[in-house]
Amino acid sequence: MEKVRYNHLNEYLKNKFGERVLKICIDGGFTCPNRDGKCGNGGCIFCGEKGSGEHLNSYQSIKKQVENYFLSYKAERANKFIAYFQNFSNTYDSIENLKKKYDSALINDKIIGLSIATRPDCIDEEVVKLLSSYSSKYYVSVELGLQTSNEETAKKINRGYENDVFTRAVKLLNKYNIDVIVHIMIGLPGETRLDLKNTINFINHHNIQGVKIHSTYVIKNTVLENMYINGLYTPLSLDEYIDLACYSISILNPNFIIHRISGDAPKDLLVAPDWNSHKKWIMNGIQKKLNQDDLWQGKFYNQ
Ligand code: SF4
Repeated sequence: MEKVRYNHLNEYLKNKFGERVLKICIDGGFTCPNRDGKCGNGGCIFCGEKGSGEHLNSYQSIKKQVENYFLSYKAERANKFIAYFQNFSNTYDSIENLKKKYDSALINDKIIGLSIATRPDCIDEEVVKLLSSYSSKYYVSVELGLQTSNEETAKKINRGYENDVFTRAVKLLNKYNIDVIVHIMIGLPGETRLDLKNTINFINHHNIQGVKIHSTYVIKNTVLENMYINGLYTPLSLDEYIDLACYSISILNPNFIIHRISGDAPKDLLVAPDWNSHKKWIMNGIQKKLNQDDLWQGKFYNQ
């Protein structure tokens, strides 16, 4: 049997809930304070018009999106599901509206979890209390987009908040026992292997439960696309990405669950790199290198 090299999300969910669990991706019709002027304009330089999410139908109500999911073939592949609010900042609204939106997704007993993607500066105690109110019935988790711990890169990508805001949000979520999943990116403009190492060491020392590792890709109508066209940004090659992803896994806290080890750009919006649309190349390449170099999650973890 092939050695398990890292903690896969699917296995984690299967162990936790006794069977396969799938995520229902929802566009909750939110926006983002880094786009509407509250903390910034234009958003993060890599963020597309749909807010770093899949192509979802934001014109439909949340309830309708979930109902349609259950009418599709996807719903036949599992019995348990997590409602996943994906696009933009899904805690950026009044508490009343947030509750209405979350409630409207929880339409049947097959939904056993609520997962919310957001920015650390959209987390405060009221929001966390609301999320925690779902914990008695649902598995609740929050995804925070950190991308990097390098404050200079954070400025360059127009992230719009400093690292201590992230730390504060994690502590608040810890206080209410809500699982935290952190997004980081490999291949950000100007970043080196050392920056990646520092970012992983930074998250290793927070009380988080999971990580999503994304490749940086260029999509249409973004600042990053402009940089790419003008020769100011060169995406990683597939081999470079595989090497850095394996390195990340080897120094990552062995307790974390890895939710992703690449990013999926919407195919019709992808500008570069081409390999990003070949998920199999990425996944197989990472697995092959982990096997060849005998690497596993946390092999070189520095406590
Ligand atoms: S915080 Fe998220 S939604 Fe907002 S601009 Fe950045 S990537 Fe886009």
